[in-house]
Amino acid sequence: MRVRFWGARGSLATPGPTTVRYGGNTSCVQVTTPGGALIIIDCGTGIRGLGQHLISSQRAPLSGHILISHTHWDHIQGIPFFGPFFAAGNTWDIYAPKGVRHSLRDTLEGQMQYSYFPVQLDELGADIRYHELVEGNFRIADATVRTQYLNHPALTFAYRLEAEGAAIVYASDHEPHSRHLADGTGEIGGEDLRHCEFLAGADLVIHDAQYIAEEYPQKIGWGHSTVEYTLALCRAAGVKRVALTHHDPARDDDAIDRILTKARANLQDVGSAMEVMAATEGSALSIKGEGQGTSRVERNESAISKASAFGNPLILLAVTDRSAADTLLDAANADQVPVVETRSWDAVLDAIGEKQPSLIVLEQKVGSPDPLELCSKIRTLRGTHDLPVIVVADAEDCEGGLAAGVTDWLIRPFSSAYARTRLRAWLLRTAARWVQAPLPPDEEQRLATLHRLGILDTPEEQRFDRLTRLAAGILRVPVALVSLVDRDRQWFKSAHGVEVRQTPRESSFCAHAVAARELLVVPDALADNRFADNPQVSGSTRVRFYAGCPLFVGQSCIGTLCVLDVRPRQLSLEQVGLLKDVASLVEHELQQSGAPRLSAG
Ligand SMILES: [Zn+2]
Ligand SMILES: [Zn+2]
Repeated sequence: MRVRFWGARGSLATPGPTTVRYGGNTSCVQVTTPGGALIIIDCGTGIRGLGQHLISSQRAPLSGHILISHTHWDHIQGIPFFGPFFAAGNTWDIYAPKGVRHSLRDTLEGQMQYSYFPVQLDELGADIRYHELVEGNFRIADATVRTQYLNHPALTFAYRLEAEGAAIVYASDHEPHSRHLADGTGEIGGEDLRHCEFLAGADLVIHDAQYIAEEYPQKIGWGHSTVEYTLALCRAAGVKRVALTHHDPARDDDAIDRILTKARANLQDVGSAMEVMAATEGSALSIKGEGQGTSRVERNESAISKASAFGNPLILLAVTDRSAADTLLDAANADQVPVVETRSWDAVLDAIGEKQPSLIVLEQKVGSPDPLELCSKIRTLRGTHDLPVIVVADAEDCEGGLAAGVTDWLIRPFSSAYARTRLRAWLLRTAARWVQAPLPPDEEQRLATLHRLGILDTPEEQRFDRLTRLAAGILRVPVALVSLVDRDRQWFKSAHGVEVRQTPRESSFCAHAVAARELLVVPDALADNRFADNPQVSGSTRVRFYAGCPLFVGQSCIGTLCVLDVRPRQLSLEQVGLLKDVASLVEHELQQSGAPRLSAG
């Protein structure tokens, strides 16, 4: 892939004698895929020059794809000045995060109203198509694109582009989730770890580095990274080259030079081979992969949002601190998301059944009952595994939160704009990234067959354990299960490699295989919108790979023989055949257990 920077300034275009070398135009990056497709990331003022370049160097009609990280002005201001939009015959696809209430087109149209600009969006000659994205993957020509939300006071995406084994990540406008990471030290956890995983192994990361650590205390909540944070995460992620971008308008060329000198010296001190540069307007790079980038993206179209992805949102708010509650109410109102306020624990638990909220916000407060306990209670209710539970607190309790099933923390004090982004990200993410298996049409009959076998809750047996051991051994996976899908749970007649004997049906992978009555292979759960946020994936089990072969007794599919791994992988045709062979041996044993009881009945 080839990369060319057309704008690397943050916040406001800053042309002049002190910014000549790194450039004064705001964010715009051109990526050309190996197959020659044009992808433009962000439409700051830099896109004007790119437009002129395209018109003069390429034959009409022009076409390409534009990825917008978010609709803050410095990332879209160049749109009305992009020449190729004005000519009929040109076709452009624009992609951006899906808003909760406002469409992408409306937002872009806003900056071209008569008060601001003489030409309206619908007067542009080119054929422009708008695509709204949630977290996930999709494909542009020979590249795959993966999206992930950043921490910024607007709904903002990082984009990961992969082609021919090379991976480029663009992550501009992002603040450390944990403030203590701003100086580049400390343990990376939680959402920061998720961000780190998104960067993993990339050949080039173009990352927000607007501030340096000593400036950060005055800039908390503004939505930007420090140089130190960026380098620490990229190093931890095994990134090969980092281009610092979104240069602060107050930073002149010499100041950027000083930052680079210091960053390189620091990397040398710790023996890091990572290369660091500052994104420079007009400079170009050629990125070749070393084959490590490809495994991150599963090729499907799932990031393109479906109209139904969001549904009818409702927030259940159990926060008594008036200022925090009001801030949250403002944030929800801004997106016209209805809020139900509750006070007691019982009211929260009742409301979950009655109102079916899409998000719950609890509060940690001195002298009040522990919200983690309430969260644990919520998690015991059916259908709550994909329900985001957020805790408002003064500090994060990562371990306690994880154990109780807390989705995320909102640390006081926070602004309404910040709360709004987080609410939107939580609502949209869960709406799109995990689906419960449908019930099979023969559910009652299937359950009757399973129960007639009389096998549920019986002790372990060698005849099954031998087979799971065999499956794990021949497929070289740590876990193999004989999983029987009961009404509300999956129960393991045999479990090789895990202690647990049952898990809820709603988060069960096997339930999908049972509903489909066919072999289910999930090479990388994180890249699959049906499973990415499934608690078995996001929680401590960390399932990344799954293959389940349905088990039949008569016409009824009662469970699976399945294998799991904590890393992504593929099965060869031969391995699929072996898994099916072992599954038929399990079926044979199941029929043995069922026979006497069936005849007795
Ligand atoms: Zn920006
Ligand atoms: Zn921004």
